[in-house]
Amino acid sequence: MTASFNKLVSELETLPGIGPKLAVRIAYYIFRSPKETVFNLTQAIIDVKEKVKPCSICFNLTEDDICDICKDQSRDRFLICVVEEPKDVLPIENTHSYNGLYHILMGAIAPLSGIGPKDLTIEPLLKRVREGVKEVIIATDLNVEGETTAIYLSKLLKPLGIKVTRLAQGLPTGSEIEYADEFTLKESIIGRKPI
Ligand code: ZN
Repeated sequence: MTASFNKLVSELETLPGIGPKLAVRIAYYIFRSPKETVFNLTQAIIDVKEKVKPCSICFNLTEDDICDICKDQSRDRFLICVVEEPKDVLPIENTHSYNGLYHILMGAIAPLSGIGPKDLTIEPLLKRVREGVKEVIIATDLNVEGETTAIYLSKLLKPLGIKVTRLAQGLPTGSEIEYADEFTLKESIIGRKPI
């Protein structure tokens, strides 16, 4: 092993889900790949870092100031679905049973990890709701952090006189929106309940 090879392995190991063995396998794969393949990969990484940013309205990922969903005038602007991370938007979009807007919290309340309400995009959400929203669907994960966040949000949102609902029906306790199957997620959107 050379110093450069070891450096690549240790960088790869910092990625989620990549242990020491897999890091070595990927490093060998990169070493054996044509220069062009490796260049395309590194360029893609740099582009994501330089071009992708949070939407100024909903905090979803975008390369413009406003994301495609917020720009889409055919969507119901009185309905907001609140999710924890940008990666939670796609599974909900894939159900084809939701036509409102989104709000990405950029996490969930997790006191043990030192994440409080101030670390999330709750203030911008309240501002959007005050500007005219009829219903907020809280689609945080069904684990402890997600439930804590849902309860916290409902206490803030209900006094604003809007309908606050939660995805729950059919989704097992502890489940994450990102991994929920399409059918169950669709049913839970259609059958959402007030909280
Ligand atoms: Zn947006």
